[in-house]
Amino acid sequence: MKKRLFLLAALFVGVTLCAFAKKSATKTPEPKQPKYVFYLITDGTGVNTLQLAEYYRGQCQGIIGRVPLFMCANYPVYGVSATWCTSSDVTDSAASGTALASGTKTYSNAIGVATDSVTPIYSIATRVHEMGYAVGVGTTASVNHATPAAQYAHNRSRHNYYDIGSQLPGTGFEFFAGSRFQLESAKNTPENRKALEDGCAKAGYTVTKGLKDFEANGRNADKVVMFQDADIDNDDMPYWMDRQPGQVTIVDQFRAEIDFLYRKSQQKGYKGFFLMNEIGGIVDHACHSNDAAAAAYEVMAVDSCMRIAFEFYQQHPDETLIILTSDHETGGLTLGRQSGGYKLTSDVLKYQKCSVYEANKHMKELAAQKGGFDKLAWEDAKAQLAADFGFWEHVKIRPNEEKRLRELFDKTVSGDVADTKSLYASNKAFVAEALRIMQDKASIGWTTGGHTAGLVPCIVCGVGQEQFMGHNDNAEIARKIGRLLGLEM
Ligand SMILES: [Zn+2]
Repeated sequence: MKKRLFLLAALFVGVTLCAFAKKSATKTPEPKQPKYVFYLITDGTGVNTLQLAEYYRGQCQGIIGRVPLFMCANYPVYGVSATWCTSSDVTDSAASGTALASGTKTYSNAIGVATDSVTPIYSIATRVHEMGYAVGVGTTASVNHATPAAQYAHNRSRHNYYDIGSQLPGTGFEFFAGSRFQLESAKNTPENRKALEDGCAKAGYTVTKGLKDFEANGRNADKVVMFQDADIDNDDMPYWMDRQPGQVTIVDQFRAEIDFLYRKSQQKGYKGFFLMNEIGGIVDHACHSNDAAAAAYEVMAVDSCMRIAFEFYQQHPDETLIILTSDHETGGLTLGRQSGGYKLTSDVLKYQKCSVYEANKHMKELAAQKGGFDKLAWEDAKAQLAADFGFWEHVKIRPNEEKRLRELFDKTVSGDVADTKSLYASNKAFVAEALRIMQDKASIGWTTGGHTAGLVPCIVCGVGQEQFMGHNDNAEIARKIGRLLGLEM
């Protein structure tokens, strides 16, 4: 009898517990739809690229171990992502940008089109704009470069810059920002650039160049395209380590976008904002050049933006989602390259005072002052290398290293050696050699001037953050964001 009572009681408790469990399971709240979405991309940044900045900071403080970036220490989710595209395991920015924008993988070079190269694929940015979100698209590269272009344009090739740029005004997105419009060499004329800017103005955009112009005319405009100063003749904004006072930096741009989009989002008819910014647009370009110092400092600029985004999150914790990921790794960066005596000596990079792009520019300016490279003396070139790379005084240069630099310098003077080309830069052979020596001194290796299939980070905070834990995939990241916003991508 006792036994039967006990069984009945156990059954009752079991059923009640089951019912309770069921009830509480159905009660698990769905994540709220985020009102403010930051979709941030650091181009060409693998997990090692972030590690480079952390170890560099540690070594500069004389310690062994990481000094964590703000984002790595404070964002609750650090996942990883794979980046393959349909044409290769090693993607380019166009295919990966499209996958990140839309949740659909495509082939290298494709901007917002499917593998048939024709069928348009629509981005989350386009879809949420239709839903009533104020949308911003920014980058440290040009506004029609692959990653931002994938947010708004459709073209079988990323290299059709003019056509891609001409699609920008039709989006009606509230904010665009970047260096300027980039043009393919066949169409690279001031008239064509002006035609693209005029197209924006006709569509109701205020086009500003430089910070002063933005403050005076752009900050309270209805829709804005924010460019860098017109006198910077470059398709990229300056590297973080090369920035000059008064120039628009990514931090200025990012703050301007947040203020602008937040103001918009509080106006009648708006549901919130969606900001895609390629805050690390030129980490990729530094890595294509195999320039570790420029890459490390660019990552620190990305980290400054991540701190700003986090401050916004702290003010709106229940309504904000921040995601940072990358479209692919660039350079095959390795931290440590000696087969005997394991070491990383990246603190030597502190003596490099500018990017290789800027160092090469300094050398060309010096040669121009002297009347051409054929008039440039080795002692003058040597002094410039000393100023830009810290060679001889701070960074010990061995006789065989100086011999090689001197040989390449002599061949440059006599016109017997071509410039060393990387994807986004072309440097004098002896300047490129100086950079190579610098990587050697830092014990940093690069396996390629192109991209790799290495894992990239996925760093997340806010509404729905748990969805991005662990191993992601670029297209999947977009679909997850889409779902949080009520979209099937
Ligand atoms: Zn890329």
